[in-house]
Amino acid sequence: FSVFISDIEISRAQTPKPVDQLAAEIGVLPEELEAYGRSKAKVQLSLLDRLHTQPDGKYVLVAGITPTPLGEGKSTVTIGLVQALSAHLKLNSFACLRQPSQGPTFGVKGGAAGGGYAQVIPMEEFNLHLTGDIHAITAANNLVAAAIDARMLHEATQSDKALFNRLVPSVNGVRRFSPIQISRLNRLGINKTDPASLTPQEVSTFVRLDLDPSKITWQRVVDTNDRFLRKITVGQASTEKGMIRETGFDIAVASEIMAILALADSLEDMKNRLARMVVGTSRSGQPITAEDLGVSGALAVLMKDAIKPTMMQTLEGTPVFVHAGPFANIAHGNSSVLADKLALKLVGRNGFVVTEAGFGADIGMEKFFNIKCRASGLRPNVVVLVATVRALKMHGGGPNVIAKVRILVAGGCRSNLRKQIQIAHLFGVPVVVALNVFKTDTQAEIDLVCQLAKECGASDAVPCHHWAQGGRGSLELAQAVNEATSRPSNFQFLYNIEMPIVEKIRTIAQKVYGADDIELSPEAEAKIDYYNQQGYGSLPICMAKTHLSLSHMPDKKGAPTGFTLPIRDVRASIGAGFIFPLVGTMSTMPGLPTRPCFYDIDLDPVTEEITGLF
Ligand code: ADP
Repeated sequence: FSVFISDIEISRAQTPKPVDQLAAEIGVLPEELEAYGRSKAKVQLSLLDRLHTQPDGKYVLVAGITPTPLGEGKSTVTIGLVQALSAHLKLNSFACLRQPSQGPTFGVKGGAAGGGYAQVIPMEEFNLHLTGDIHAITAANNLVAAAIDARMLHEATQSDKALFNRLVPSVNGVRRFSPIQISRLNRLGINKTDPASLTPQEVSTFVRLDLDPSKITWQRVVDTNDRFLRKITVGQASTEKGMIRETGFDIAVASEIMAILALADSLEDMKNRLARMVVGTSRSGQPITAEDLGVSGALAVLMKDAIKPTMMQTLEGTPVFVHAGPFANIAHGNSSVLADKLALKLVGRNGFVVTEAGFGADIGMEKFFNIKCRASGLRPNVVVLVATVRALKMHGGGPNVIAKVRILVAGGCRSNLRKQIQIAHLFGVPVVVALNVFKTDTQAEIDLVCQLAKECGASDAVPCHHWAQGGRGSLELAQAVNEATSRPSNFQFLYNIEMPIVEKIRTIAQKVYGADDIELSPEAEAKIDYYNQQGYGSLPICMAKTHLSLSHMPDKKGAPTGFTLPIRDVRASIGAGFIFPLVGTMSTMPGLPTRPCFYDIDLDPVTEEITGLF
């Protein structure tokens, strides 16, 4: 075959097997499957109950060294690995991937279906709307935003009595609280169920959320790199009566609802988390939740199908779950707990589930362990750390200077690769380094990386040729992973959850990033004090930090030392269950480059063929 065939052409050349056939092969019953077209289906969560006595398979995490902006191939390695395990070693296996965001698909990086002969197919369905989960998240998120601003307007323009009469309407002469309202009353300490029995003071407490417009933390979201929405002003029409305020948009995949989807372990858990989300603070300093706004039931309704993972397949017919898609720099960067749990049951004791954590191990993997594993109770058997010669050269000191190539590659191995291996070892998990081979790599470079990776502490290090050869090209990796899972893994968390928030942030900064210390802005310090007062102190930490360096400075490659990590601001995602520090200038809404990927994307209106997606 020609290596110039594009990813979308490779994808299109292979007809996926019908999704009901795939389901039958892996033991999903027809009644547990909800097909979306011919090649994708959502899987019902009842499968977890049916298989609850089945032992879990082995759990493999794919992470990476600090990447170049193009990505070093974690998704391709994940897919190549399951293809090798399943088609070539005949072991049940499943890949669990995140749903791509349209931000990178139309921005710099392109899609996330893998590439070459290690892809999820049909790749255009994977990369675009899939089964609509990100749209559901966007709808739910923005319903909360609309509820906040409308509620502030109504409270500002109506008396207590008028508000009460509208919030608790009279039906056939009788007023009744809804279940969500009773829940709010209970939290306010008003244990009454008869609306007529509330005192005027209780009516006022009940109807007025009294949100402080300057303390609203909830943002609107859209799944596009639309930098001009970073800061906006809402309420400028005269109908909003001068209730103008500044707010902004985040990218949908960095939203709290996306994180909840990824961390929930049942529909009930998701519903409770959605209700707990804190959207801002009242003027008296009380946190106001989605449940206080009365919107939590509607959110659960909008999200009820999104909670079911979508099943697809690789080019070689291996099953794949695609579920949730948080970025690893400005969110927690991992696919869903539910997809991993379902897949672990489906593959059974001798099978493998390969799940991927975004960007470098310092962010995606750290959050996989400290946030996702804490939520799920699952423990991985091995970490596969993906490296490329091109990224190692970058970490070794610079652009492609031929005479110094060996020195650059070795420099990259002894700095960034070594540090990322050490980070995995902090959690007590063995590491296999997967060198994702590009056709420009020389044998000498490949041998050097594999040798140095072992010297730096990896249990094994092997080259992978899945991009050019499919599963066959990852056989050596599959064998190394199979072997590594028979070794003991002494898993431990990096920090005790009860440590103070500042100490948890400092631990990550020093032990994972290599910082000397952290520096909190006055705003960050004040927020942490407030979160402590509210009892949010024992949540894990989700750092928002650049993925382009171990430090907060994107241009500092290798393994930087001697820096202080600036914490600009801290947010709290109470429903998702983490504290969210913003490091340096990190923005939660990316922008488009001068020449985005969308320049190359087109549709033939006759054949309906898409070109330019990769
Ligand atoms: P990551 O998951 O680490 O972000 P991907 O697996 O998505 O990286 O790969 C990034 C891009 O690089 C994709 O377009 C993919 O097709 C391409 N790519 C990955 N590995 C290779 C390789 N060995 N040779 C050529 N291109 C590759």
